[in-house]
Amino acid sequence: MIQDIYPHKLDISFKVRRPVEDSYVFHFSGMRFLCRTDADGNGNISVPEFASYPRPSGEFIYLFDLDGRSMFLDASEDEIENPGYSYENMKLFREGKPKELMFALSTAYHLSVWHRDNRYCGRCGAKMIHSGKERKFECPQCGNSVYPRIMPSVIVGVVNGDSILVTRYNMPNAKMAALVAGFCEIGETAEDTVRREVMEETGIRVKNIRYYASQPWGISAGGLLLGFWCDLDGDAAIHVDGEEIAEAAWVRREELKDCIGVDHPSLTSEMMAVFAEGKEK
Ligand SMILES: [Zn+2]
Repeated sequence: MIQDIYPHKLDISFKVRRPVEDSYVFHFSGMRFLCRTDADGNGNISVPEFASYPRPSGEFIYLFDLDGRSMFLDASEDEIENPGYSYENMKLFREGKPKELMFALSTAYHLSVWHRDNRYCGRCGAKMIHSGKERKFECPQCGNSVYPRIMPSVIVGVVNGDSILVTRYNMPNAKMAALVAGFCEIGETAEDTVRREVMEETGIRVKNIRYYASQPWGISAGGLLLGFWCDLDGDAAIHVDGEEIAEAAWVRREELKDCIGVDHPSLTSEMMAVFAEGKEK
């Protein structure tokens, strides 16, 4: 999955740092990021180093270390010209390489949105100040504290014998390649979310809900995906909602190959691959 970058290591512990020559710099413009798409002739992506960064006097925010090298965010909003570099869509992180940089990119995007959206206090409107001791904005006027937003959601593998419930999003060009999924709502446990989302999207009742794994999903600016297995409870007849989901079907293990992306870093694809091999528990 996207976070599986061993032996590489993303060290997210908070530090007070200034960029040095070999620090990496991320700059985002909406959903696009500044990079070199074929940095070495092997299809590897790179982001600029501080030594050659064309806006050295900007506001640089320390993010984290990747393999001991510091990574920073250029907090300016204006796009910059950097010969050989271009602004590419964040979707590139799914298939881009090296994988460890793509995971750092996704996490950097999460933090960039947090910085962008918390310049002013949501309670009193005063200018926020970074605490300098941890990832926290503090309001000097009313004491409001704001930490990076983490939004849990569930990915659900509904099992019916040798079949699993596969869905297709109601979006142009969407493939029959998704599992039931949705954000946790107020007052819900993750298990409540599993029951509600499966019922809302497909009209199916489930039982024996068991946790599988989780995955940070920075591209949704704070997503934390929680994967669950569960079993069909009763009637297997599917009734799709027709809004979020266009289609859903029970797909047998041996037919799942067509649904799984190649070398795809998502929790959904991993769960499908695990089910195809009969290794879900
Ligand atoms: Zn305030």
